[in-house]
Amino acid sequence: MTVKEQILGGMEACEKLLIGIGEEWKAENIPDISGLYEKMNRLIKDKDFFIVTTVTDGEIFKSSLEKSRMVAPCGNVTWRQCSKSCTKDIWEPGEILKDVCPHCKAPLTGNTIEAENYIEEGYLPQWQAYTAWLAGTLNKRLLVLELGVGFKTPTVIRWPFEKTVSINKKAHMYRIHESFSQLPEAVKGKADGVSENSLEFFRNL
Ligand SMILES: [Zn+2]
Repeated sequence: MTVKEQILGGMEACEKLLIGIGEEWKAENIPDISGLYEKMNRLIKDKDFFIVTTVTDGEIFKSSLEKSRMVAPCGNVTWRQCSKSCTKDIWEPGEILKDVCPHCKAPLTGNTIEAENYIEEGYLPQWQAYTAWLAGTLNKRLLVLELGVGFKTPTVIRWPFEKTVSINKKAHMYRIHESFSQLPEAVKGKADGVSENSLEFFRNL
C-alpha cells in the first residue's frame, strides 16, 4: 500500500481527524489554493475534524470548509485591527470603508502576528473550541495530518501535535514536508514522515 492509500484509508477509519497546515500552504504563488481547500472539504466534510493553520492569508476562510472547525492562531490578514491597538475590536473585510480606526484614526492593519501589537482576541474563541475538541480525542482513533509545518512557529502546531500523538494510544500521524519531515523519538512507531512538498502531495492525493 502506498502512503497515499494509507492516509485515505486512515481518514476513512478514524473517529477524529486533526489537520495542521503550515508554511508550505502560504497562498502567494499557489494559483490552485482555493481548489485545494475545496478538495480538502470534499475529503473530510463528513468527519469529526479540526484544522489548525498558521497561514494568515485568510484563503481557508473563503472555502467551503466548516469555520466552526478551524482556528488560525497566527491571525488572518483580511481581518483588520487598529495598528496602534487602541481597541481590541477586530473588523471583517469591508466593515470599515477607509481602513482607518474609527476610534483613534490610526491606519488599520492585518490582524496577524506580523502586527506590532497583535490582538489575539480574533482567534481565542476558536482556540477554546479547539482545546475542547482536542480533549475529546484522547481515547479515540485519531488521525493527524500535518501538512507543510516547519519551524517558523513550532509551538502552534508541530510540537503540540507531537505531544498529542505521543499520549494517545490510538493516534497516528503523517508529517508531510519537503525538508522537515523528521520525527522525534516520542512518536516513533506512531507516525510517518513523508519528505515531499505537502501541497504537491495533497494535489495528488
Ligand atoms: Zn485605534
